[in-house]
Amino acid sequence: MPELPEVETVRRGLEQKLNNFIIKKVEVCRDSTVAFPINKEEFIKGVLNSLIYKWDRRGKYLIAQLKEVQNENTQFLLDNLKNNGFLVVHLRMTGYFKFIENSSHPCKHTRIRFFDKNNNELRYIDVRSFGQMWWINKDLSLNKIIKGLGSLGPEPFSEDFDANYLKKVISKRTKSIKAILLDQTIVAGIGNIYADESLYSAGISPFREARTIKKNELIKLKESIVTVLKKSIGSGGTTFSDFRDLDGENGNFGLQTNVYRRTGKECRKCGNLIERQKITGRSTHWCPKCQK
Ligand SMILES: [Zn+2]
Repeated sequence: MPELPEVETVRRGLEQKLNNFIIKKVEVCRDSTVAFPINKEEFIKGVLNSLIYKWDRRGKYLIAQLKEVQNENTQFLLDNLKNNGFLVVHLRMTGYFKFIENSSHPCKHTRIRFFDKNNNELRYIDVRSFGQMWWINKDLSLNKIIKGLGSLGPEPFSEDFDANYLKKVISKRTKSIKAILLDQTIVAGIGNIYADESLYSAGISPFREARTIKKNELIKLKESIVTVLKKSIGSGGTTFSDFRDLDGENGNFGLQTNVYRRTGKECRKCGNLIERQKITGRSTHWCPKCQK
C-alpha cells in the first residue's frame, strides 16, 4: 500500500505534470471508484470545467483544489476564479495515476479518465480497485463527508507531532507501539514499511506496550519517523507494493530498507538475523538484538 512518501511523490508528480489542466471530459469506467457524490453523473458534472489548481496531501489522501472555468478561451486570472470544491483521492492498495499526452486506449484496470481540451489524459488505474475518489462541493465539509480524513491525527512533519503529544496519547495504551504507529487517528500516513523502519532506527521493539515507552525514546522515535520518511520522499518512494509514479514507473530503487522484507538477513548494525512476526495481522520485521 502506498504510504506517506509514495503519496507525496505522486502529489509532486501531479503538480509538475498538470499545468493548467482543465477537465473537459470525464469517463468513469468503474462506478464504485466514485465514493461521493453517490450518483456518478453528479460527480462528473461537478468536476467538469474545473481547473485543477493545486494538489495537497493529508495523510495518504490527495486533495486537489478545483477552480471553476466556464470559458477557457477568454483570459482569466487564477486568483479571480471561483472555487469549485475539491477532488479527493485515496489510492489504497494499488491505485495510481498516469498522465498521457494524446490519450490512447485504456488498459482494463482503468477506473476513471479525465481529459483536457487537447486530449491530454489524467488516467486513474487500480488493479485491486480499493481506491476511491470524492468530489466535495465547496459548500460541504471535507472532514465530515470523508470520515477517514476528518479523524486523521497530525502529520508526522507538523509541530503538533512531537514527543509530548505521543506521550499524552499513548500514556494509557496497552497496544503495541507498532499498532499505535499504524493507527491513522494517532499519526497520519505511516503504514507497515515505515512503521518497521522507524522503530528499527529508534531501537524500539515493535512489541513494546505503548505506555511503557519513555519520553527520551519517544523523542528518538519522532526523529526516526521524520528522517525515514524524508529519506524515502527524496528517493521517490520505495519499490515495494505496486506503487507507480506518474510516468508509470516503479519507485526508483533509491531506498534501502533495514528490516522491511529482510527476514533472515543480517542486521546492518549487529549482524544478528532479522525476524518477522505478525502484529495485528501485519507482518512485522525487526532485529531482536538492536530493538528493545
Ligand atoms: Zn541488530
